[in-house]
Amino acid sequence: PKKTVVGPLVGAVVQGTNSTRFLVFSSKTADLLSHHQVELTEDFPREGWVEQDPKEILQSVYECIERTCQKLAELHIDVSNIKATGVSNQRETTVIWDKLTGEPFYNAIVWLDLRTQPTLENLSKKIPGNNNFVKSETGLPLSTYFSAVKLRWILDNVRQVQKAVEEGRALLGTIDSWLIWSVTGGVNGGVHCTDVTNASRTMLSNIHSLEWDKELCDFFDIPMDILRNVWSSSDIYGRIKAGSLEGEPISGCLGDQSAALVGQMCFQEGQAKNTYSTGRFLLCNTGHKCVFSAHGLLTTVAYKPGRDKPVCYALEGSVGIAGAVIRWLRDNLGIINTSEEIETLAKDVGTSYGCYFVPAFSGLYAPFWEPSARGIICGLSQFTSKNHIAFAALESVCFQTREILDAMNYDCGIPLSHLQVDGAMTNNRILMQLQADILHIPVIKPSMPETTALGAAMAAGAAEGVGVWSLKPEDLSVIFMERFEPQIKATESEIRYSTWKKAVRKSMGWVT
Ligand code: ADP
Repeated sequence: PKKTVVGPLVGAVVQGTNSTRFLVFSSKTADLLSHHQVELTEDFPREGWVEQDPKEILQSVYECIERTCQKLAELHIDVSNIKATGVSNQRETTVIWDKLTGEPFYNAIVWLDLRTQPTLENLSKKIPGNNNFVKSETGLPLSTYFSAVKLRWILDNVRQVQKAVEEGRALLGTIDSWLIWSVTGGVNGGVHCTDVTNASRTMLSNIHSLEWDKELCDFFDIPMDILRNVWSSSDIYGRIKAGSLEGEPISGCLGDQSAALVGQMCFQEGQAKNTYSTGRFLLCNTGHKCVFSAHGLLTTVAYKPGRDKPVCYALEGSVGIAGAVIRWLRDNLGIINTSEEIETLAKDVGTSYGCYFVPAFSGLYAPFWEPSARGIICGLSQFTSKNHIAFAALESVCFQTREILDAMNYDCGIPLSHLQVDGAMTNNRILMQLQADILHIPVIKPSMPETTALGAAMAAGAAEGVGVWSLKPEDLSVIFMERFEPQIKATESEIRYSTWKKAVRKSMGWVT
């Protein structure tokens, strides 16, 4: 059969906590031509621990690439048109592996994992007075969330790793490093690198110099020689060694939230996006200025679009549990069989009937940074049904966005006039309407919701030496399509929000 002519294509690996995807876009129109998704296992070996198998993650990437290429072939599209691939990944999740065998020494410790709370308490004692030393150099509060403490835990607890570090065979990385090293050859010359956005989430990289910081490495007692090469977000890092894309460059790398900011075209100072995935992340571009929050937000690297291009920063409001609460209702309570079913359950009642659900499973992240919090469901009566709990779970995601938006508005001074959203949960129309009601501003959802993938593909396609992505943000402005307008009175949303705040206060101090 005749091949379909499509011009240069760009692929994007989106490696999330919940799933891995590979998507292929046209570099001329940004149309999504094909994709494949594989859901991942999460292990909870003890209360508060969250692990994933790095080999399962890697395997899922290979599977997604190969299945997508098969689907393209079925559409009579030649996969040799794929001229570059970008990587976007769950951030902070930490892997340490053996460069001689390619085997991980331990499971990946996932960003949500809480085991390092005691490690943190010991570290805090080393800081005289307050946490400002770490925050002023990294933009991040000292928390279990970031990679340095996870790495510290591995070094302290996995005997093999200490030996491997002494022998110079241990490589450390966030998921991007593990994937890029593996797909560019692994033990046969794999490239060990990361990009500035991922490095900025380790707590070992200096937010001003964008380099590994000796003082921070000393503070966490991390040997600097297991950290390697920090690149820009758009650069040829290496070439894929095997499979259908053999020989093609990996030329984009962004932490998932940065990729979504790029994919939503938030290139101007003051533009923001909110992604609803396992967690929920609101990022606001602050341009070349590194803005520090007075209201519990993080300062992070937004992107650096090339070796010689200037870096952009963002203020970020991260919430640990969003889609994860839906997965919990599915996997732990079994009140739904698929995540999508939550919409029908919630829609059938259209109210939480006074029930509030604070899903602080891993403590509370922004703006509270309260590790002592745990999940609570309150306001129950004999009338409460699983439908009301489903509704309350969706509402919790919206209330948490409101907390972040308030903090962002205080820090930036100019309130957002609308909210650009993306992520798998935005397919849930009840959630989107609730969000508009609770924020009392319009919520705008792109017709092509795969903005994380689009951001990674744009970075890969535009890299120096690749140069197949020529679309400008204005060419893509048509992608913003669906609007959800607030439908309830502001006073009503204020009453609900203030009851939510009461519930949040009750969730705090649960563990000591
Ligand atoms: P990640 O990037 O963390 O892998 P995704 O963007 O793929 O996550 O989002 C997956 C999360 O979204 C899952 O936790 C799932 O429960 C949730 N989710 C998916 N579809 C829906 C839906 N229709 N309504 C509510 N939640 C959903």
